Amino acid sequence: MSAPIEVAGLPRPDISLDQARVFAAELFAVEPRGVKELGSQQDRNFLLSTPDGCRHLLKVSNPAFTREEIEAQNAAMEHLADAGFNTPLPLASCSGEEVEAVTVNGRVHYVRLLTFVEGAPLIERAHLGTHLMRELGASLGRASKAFSDFQHVGLTRSLQWDLRAGENVVADLLPFVQVNWKRDMLSDVLTRVKHVLAPLKGQLPVQAVHGDMTDDNVVYVVSPEGLPRLAGVIDFGDTMYSWRVSELAVACASLFHHNPTNPLAVLPLIQAFHDVVPLSEAEIQALWPLIVLRGAVLAVSGEQQTAIDAGNDYASAALDREWIAFESPATYSWNAAEASIRASLGVPRNGGVRLSNPSPLIPRLTQATPVTVNLGWDSAAFKSGSWIKGPEEERSIIEELTSQDDVVLTRFGEPRMTRANILNPEEPANVALGVEVHNCEPLDVHSPFAATLTLGEASTRAATLEGEGHIVALAGVTVDPALMNGQTLERGQLLGQTRPGGTTVWLALQTTNPDHGNPPGFVRATELRGYCETYLDPTNLLSGIHAAPTPPTHFNGPSIELVRRRNTFDPLQAHYYEEPPRIERGWKEHLIDTNGRHYLDMVNNVTVLGHGHPAVAEAASRQWEMLNTNSRFHYGAVARFSERLLSLVPDSFDTVFLVNSGTEAVDLALRLSKAYTDRDDVLCCEESYHGWSLAADAVSTSISDNPRADETRPEWVHVLAAPNDYRGTHRGEGAGREYAKDAQDLLQHLRQTGTPVGTYISEPRNGNAGAIGTPPSYLESVYHAVRAQGGICISDEVQVGYGRLGEHFWGYEEHKVVPDIVTMAKAMGNGHPLGAVITRREIANALAAQGSFFSSGGGSTLSSQMGITVLDIIEREKLQENAKTAGRILSDGFRDLMGRHSLIGAVHGMGLYQGVEFVRNRESLEPAKEETTAICDRMRELGVMVLPTGDRQNILKIKPPLCFSADSAHYFLRILDEVLTNGW
Ligand code: PMP
Repeated sequence: MSAPIEVAGLPRPDISLDQARVFAAELFAVEPRGVKELGSQQDRNFLLSTPDGCRHLLKVSNPAFTREEIEAQNAAMEHLADAGFNTPLPLASCSGEEVEAVTVNGRVHYVRLLTFVEGAPLIERAHLGTHLMRELGASLGRASKAFSDFQHVGLTRSLQWDLRAGENVVADLLPFVQVNWKRDMLSDVLTRVKHVLAPLKGQLPVQAVHGDMTDDNVVYVVSPEGLPRLAGVIDFGDTMYSWRVSELAVACASLFHHNPTNPLAVLPLIQAFHDVVPLSEAEIQALWPLIVLRGAVLAVSGEQQTAIDAGNDYASAALDREWIAFESPATYSWNAAEASIRASLGVPRNGGVRLSNPSPLIPRLTQATPVTVNLGWDSAAFKSGSWIKGPEEERSIIEELTSQDDVVLTRFGEPRMTRANILNPEEPANVALGVEVHNCEPLDVHSPFAATLTLGEASTRAATLEGEGHIVALAGVTVDPALMNGQTLERGQLLGQTRPGGTTVWLALQTTNPDHGNPPGFVRATELRGYCETYLDPTNLLSGIHAAPTPPTHFNGPSIELVRRRNTFDPLQAHYYEEPPRIERGWKEHLIDTNGRHYLDMVNNVTVLGHGHPAVAEAASRQWEMLNTNSRFHYGAVARFSERLLSLVPDSFDTVFLVNSGTEAVDLALRLSKAYTDRDDVLCCEESYHGWSLAADAVSTSISDNPRADETRPEWVHVLAAPNDYRGTHRGEGAGREYAKDAQDLLQHLRQTGTPVGTYISEPRNGNAGAIGTPPSYLESVYHAVRAQGGICISDEVQVGYGRLGEHFWGYEEHKVVPDIVTMAKAMGNGHPLGAVITRREIANALAAQGSFFSSGGGSTLSSQMGITVLDIIEREKLQENAKTAGRILSDGFRDLMGRHSLIGAVHGMGLYQGVEFVRNRESLEPAKEETTAICDRMRELGVMVLPTGDRQNILKIKPPLCFSADSAHYFLRILDEVLTNGW
């Protein structure tokens, strides 16, 4: 780098709106209709709108910049435009020049008229998702590639923003930072940056860079699908020669304020850049320190700019963001950041040392075999959500184990259930980087190698041993009082003793860039790969073995299991999400993945009682111990369960069939009906799902389940329009009557053409379509018309029945009708496969004429007992009532959100069966399909599992377990609001 730059803040030139108007008219013959100032750190930018609807940018550059610099910026824009970028382009003045000079207050200012790039800067989006990060990284890469052959004399500049001068800029501007701790922190970080960059600087390629491709200068538009897409790059004021990698560092630093608690959110951007412009080894090593340096330059420059240009609101508003740009990457482990970058780029670090023949840290462990406690997802020590108590639960499990006089070790790299949290949008920091040693009696601790001892504050009882390229850090150790800070310990020398409350041991590699402060106790699962490059499993060291460090097994957990699934399990049995978390545990309305992350479960309607219900587990276990056989034998449960079911329906019903699923129930119901009416033809409804067997599938018309459903119905199936009064052929009041009229017409037509309908099957509220209500009077009229011409009616309650609607136990109760056959399943067994058909004996008898009926599992001892248990708990825990109250919180909340977010077109459903329908336009009702998917993906990132449903896939399906709490309802509303407000 040339001579250090002269750092002097550059206040914006003093140009008024009127002057701008005059420049536009006199220099460029543009008579603007409107002139508006746009923000800038050191220039003056004016947005001009012309009478013919064009928009231009009049830019008056800071007089500190030379004509050559301004010309270089114009050339850079043209260069990127040639490479396919949408950039501002200079327009010729009346005298044919792209740069005009004016003198204001005795100084020459260069004025340009540029085309205006439409779009909003990314800074206006609170949330930048992974897809945007990737797009931005790819754009940066393409710009960097295009600039690699771009040269101009005006690019050799002496700018405060050239990271090659960053260290000097920070040092020079430090005095502008008023707050002591901030100044100290900047100064400390500057020393670290210098230390790391010194050996790398000579190896960093230099080329033309835009120098300011930040969220302020990259603009986006919303696509017709409602998704943000990058649309252009603006503000070439910092174009210069600099380190190539600084283009990336500058962009990254600008993004932390979007997600300050997760600096690694920039990884997809770095990866996408690397795909276009592969980073060299030196660039990879320099990247994070350069990001920190850019943050530091921004922070000190922001302080300076507000000091010298107090009226610059744009600069003052930026200060908080600039501080985050510094603090967020600076306080993150630089080692872990580099390692995470390497992992995402697939470029491993060279070398690595191995400890040779360490002496045991705790020699007692060479004789005793320690017990390893499992605090992860599959721990049998946890009962009924006990892990939610947190570290207190860990202590009681460990105390129980140590009471048997064993040494107990915790596990390195284990995501602990006890450190995770429920109803929290942040990924928990719950993965242990250290190993705890617990024993009732103190154990001697020895130095495993010749090492220098550093003692922490007395209260922390921390000690660090450094030697042989490794660091052993200990917390909660009683150090031998004879030992002094800084002392050298020999291999095997006694250090002290473990403490009764447990001693934590970390093992880390010494690096050229040591992290400051104590080793982290717990990190996030997504950070573990990065941390594991420096933090090793200390377990073997405790007893003196040093095997090669192996990453914790769960690293590969989700992906390997997914590959195994794909290899064996037919993919037609699809899974939710492209990259699904591996869900292995649940508790109430929470699903838990193998990283211990808790998700709010909005979709498991089958598990009505909630996940992991202890009474269900106990009843199943007891029944298994006693007997499980089939209904050909005589036992009490089958009758008890059948009686219970009949007690839930009107007296006209007297007969129960027990099967194993909704499909079987529907299939059997269709057989019963066909046998009884002696007619084949069935009337069903558009957008429905009733099951997968030949008959149940024949009446399933949903095109989201089967895109060819419309064309492939068998002859005996007749399909009615979905009676949707929000977006169907008949809308609003009176729609029920009109749809019923259509149904009557079709029934009549079928009778006249010799195929009279024997069966009408429908859900009383279309669950599959998104909890869409059936309009008033419709069902009553259709039931009447079907029966009037000799048919019978099946109400499919598999999805909406069993108390879910809150107000009603069965969906048909909403419509003052009584069906002839009711099918049910899902909720009946809380996940145990159970299904039932309830009907009248005369209908059942018709099937008897065709042969016997037997289902091995249907009504088995176990299934019957499970069915009784579930009904008992629904009653005991008042779950139907809960569906009503929690459902009301949701529906009130949705209606409130609807007032604020135009994307919500309608709210369907009741109780804990609801659907929030997203539309692009409340008049045209254009379904917001892509938005719905993106919203669901974003909500999952924030700890909520909710999914799209309906033929247009534009409705959030909301059907959580019925134990869904008021807190969960409020959390769901909060997260939905956040996503609708901040973007997806
Ligand atoms: N009927 C309805 C209304 C359903 O929603 C479903 C399943 N989604 C079924 C029948 C089929 O049930 P199962 O998956 O238990 O076979």
